[in-house]
Amino acid sequence: MTRQHCVLGLMCKQAVIDGADKVKYWAWHDIQYFFLEKFMSESSEYGEALPFQSDNLQRFIFDNAEIRGEWVHLHETWQQVISRRAYPEAIQNLLGQMMAAAGLLAATVKMDGRLVLQIKSTGPVSLMMVECTSQHTLRAFAQWDEAEIEIATDASLADLTGEGTLAITIEVNGANKPYQGIVSLNGGSIAELLETYFRQSEQLDTRVWLAANAQSVAGLLIQQLPSAEQNNEQEEESWSRISQLSATVTGAELLDLGAGTLLHRLFHEEECRLLTSTELTFSCSCSRQRVANTISLLGQQDAMDLVEEQGNIEVACEFCNEHYYFDKADVVLIFTEAGISTIFDSKTLH
Ligand SMILES: [Zn+2]
Repeated sequence: MTRQHCVLGLMCKQAVIDGADKVKYWAWHDIQYFFLEKFMSESSEYGEALPFQSDNLQRFIFDNAEIRGEWVHLHETWQQVISRRAYPEAIQNLLGQMMAAAGLLAATVKMDGRLVLQIKSTGPVSLMMVECTSQHTLRAFAQWDEAEIEIATDASLADLTGEGTLAITIEVNGANKPYQGIVSLNGGSIAELLETYFRQSEQLDTRVWLAANAQSVAGLLIQQLPSAEQNNEQEEESWSRISQLSATVTGAELLDLGAGTLLHRLFHEEECRLLTSTELTFSCSCSRQRVANTISLLGQQDAMDLVEEQGNIEVACEFCNEHYYFDKADVVLIFTEAGISTIFDSKTLH
């Protein structure tokens, strides 16, 4: 056992290294142990030899700077989103960048709950929404005016949104009030909006790079640690140096390279160390029972009128495009004493 200076630079300045190359660091704000894998190999201690793992969030830190980082890459999760609805290319790319952004923010959802990234605007794209849960699941959708205009393949966020806001909402299950941070859309990119959010709400210097195409979405984030001292010349120099190195990243590198290779390429002259990684997956929490609950809120009379009028009630989930159908017998069942708990999932159509 050896005692070492805590590289996180936080309140706990001690770390314990055990014989298996696993290091425990205690970050004061997490009140939990991070198990740091030291991916030691002949070629690189950045894990260059690691296999490329998509649908993954990889955290990293710098031993020689008060800076943390995250890399995210989604393939299967992204395919699940775009296989469920056909989006114009420009909207798909922006939704993909939002999804990568949500993946990067996933690390902040430590409590049981969810984080929602939402752009609302007056433009042709009225709503883009990505949800990420503490179970590391993601889902996303966009709404746009299909009739109004033809959307250029290279349309920017500003072209597609006009006036509007990006809201980041964190809901902790059981808590009274969600936390919400709002940034107004000012013609910038999604990455710039995220940087503004961190500067305004957390007072932390943050840089973000995002990329998306029809195969994958990916993102890179670096952020000064809360413990970094303001106006400290050495720390400002480190921030400027590592920001510049990070800024050389291209969209193609983000989309095509695994964490180990990319971080080695960007930071091989720095003391960059991989921390834990988290697997991310697509999942939608909609269910026939939840839809039945919503129908029950209409009230018996209105629900019966609706089913009489249309033959059945059809409800589609915005996120996963699952269609739920309720015929007259189902609606009657919803309002019987046995109620919604008896609704079964046999009539789900996709
Ligand atoms: Zn759904």
